[in-house]
Amino acid sequence: MIIKKDKEIIKSYFEDNSGILNGDADEVYIPENMKECTRIITELYKKNIPITFSGSGTGMTGGRIPFKGAVLSSERLNKITLEQNKEKVLLKVEAGATLEDIKSACSKSGVFFPVNPTEETATIGASTSNNSSGSWTYKYGSFRNNILEIDFVTRNGVTLKITKNSHRFSGDSIFLKELSDKPLVRPMYTMPMVKNAAGYYSKKDMSLLDLIIGSEGTLGFISSITLKVLPMPKKVIECIVFFAFEKDAIQFVNKTRALRNTQNTLDPRALEFFNVNALKFLSEHHSSIPDNAKAGVVFEHELNDLSKEDEILESLLKLAEDCHAFLDNIWMADTPKRLEELRLFRHSLPSIVNEKFKRKEFYKLSTDSAVPDECLSDILDYYNYEIKKSGLTSIIFGHIGNNHFHVNLLAKKNEQEKAKDLYKKFMEKAVSLGGTISAEHGIGKLKKKYLPILYGQKGLNEMKRVKLYFDPKNLFNSGNLLDL
Ligand SMILES: Cc1cc2nc3c(=O)[nH]c(=O)nc-3n(C[C@H](O)[C@H](O)[C@H](O)COP(=O)(O)OP(=O)(O)OC[C@H]3O[C@@H](n4cnc5c(N)ncnc54)[C@H](O)[C@@H]3O)c2cc1C
Repeated sequence: MIIKKDKEIIKSYFEDNSGILNGDADEVYIPENMKECTRIITELYKKNIPITFSGSGTGMTGGRIPFKGAVLSSERLNKITLEQNKEKVLLKVEAGATLEDIKSACSKSGVFFPVNPTEETATIGASTSNNSSGSWTYKYGSFRNNILEIDFVTRNGVTLKITKNSHRFSGDSIFLKELSDKPLVRPMYTMPMVKNAAGYYSKKDMSLLDLIIGSEGTLGFISSITLKVLPMPKKVIECIVFFAFEKDAIQFVNKTRALRNTQNTLDPRALEFFNVNALKFLSEHHSSIPDNAKAGVVFEHELNDLSKEDEILESLLKLAEDCHAFLDNIWMADTPKRLEELRLFRHSLPSIVNEKFKRKEFYKLSTDSAVPDECLSDILDYYNYEIKKSGLTSIIFGHIGNNHFHVNLLAKKNEQEKAKDLYKKFMEKAVSLGGTISAEHGIGKLKKKYLPILYGQKGLNEMKRVKLYFDPKNLFNSGNLLDL
């Protein structure tokens, strides 16, 4: 086990992308195997020392930022095992393995993990604990939908091996004899029926696996994860379609979804969106974006039956034409090289914004809300109307297939209060439409004050009850999600 105590050295563990600056801890523990990991968790817990779990620090909400006690970093727990037999491939990874690690392990075996959060240095342990998502979530769901098993280290050093069926609630409760002689009762609230990463998962007859995924490290440490992998598609068609009006882009998305739901002719894995200001930001680095484009939609489709390629391209072009897209300026990627270029193009936007934010060019507030399908047009109209009224600079981009946008409010020093007010209004609006305040980044420390908008004080009390069942001393990731 590596133990670091020098403040100058360990201060890098007190940061992520949230902008929270007052992190502090006395020591950082870096276990090199599972035995060391469970031992240190048990010892620290017995000594009443707060433990903050740390991945790569790419989180957006301050989840890994400690305020006291110890940090437990997963950086040396990064073993990857890929087991292949005739029927299936199983990918078992330790918490500290990163998305780029598993991508390279998978590519050697002709398989892929179907969740692709943009930032590939993120660890799998953290992404499981946050229920992270990516652009392919439109087709494949989030981490929650693609995890077969986790090893979960509890406060007393017991490692629970949890699959979907190994630990099922009976109605509202489950007995976990390793933790208590009383049953654990699920949080008694109803979750929004949209892509969601806000608060504890809760449904009748749920699996414990679903509760731990997305619990943001507040219940214990996820030490290893078995992931679902799929055969690599034979080919991927990817393109960016530009539009002169945002409403045409929305129509393009709605029509694509309708085709998928009714006729099953198109089944894209990603539908991503850039609004006019996002395209302006990107054009600082990519001069070929059409000048008069007011919106862009990325369309990504896998091909396993190559004979269907022409049919899919025809449907796509017909849709683009019906929705008045710039037909002579559709960026098509049909070779691996072009695909990678387009991937880098798309992924450069959050990095450009985060870099400017880190250089303190502006104060940034970024929403992460999703709403139901039928509210797509309403929510974008609302954002645009309110932003115009406020006079704030903003960019909007995100996972339009899931009606999930990152509205980045970029405020000057004297505009910060106005931006905060608008941000809260946006969350209230999303919830009023049946949506969520966070679809992928989680709540952490940054967004917990907004959680009552979604679940009310009663819902928060339900979450507190669950937290204390697993962590009666409030030592695990304390300050994340809830104030106790
Ligand atoms: C440019 C950029 C793009 C991004 N794009 C996406 C995106 O598309 N989709 C998305 O979902 N997110 C995205 N993110 C956010 C971020 O990458 C994810 O939240 C990711 O899961 C964080 O991983 P990490 O290893 O950096 O975690 P950290 O920031 O180190 O920690 C995140 C949280 O996980 C907890 N944690 C860490 N390890 C464990 C463990 N083993 N057990 C229990 N809890 C643990 C931490 O305590 C903390 O609460 C993006 C971030 C950046 C900077």
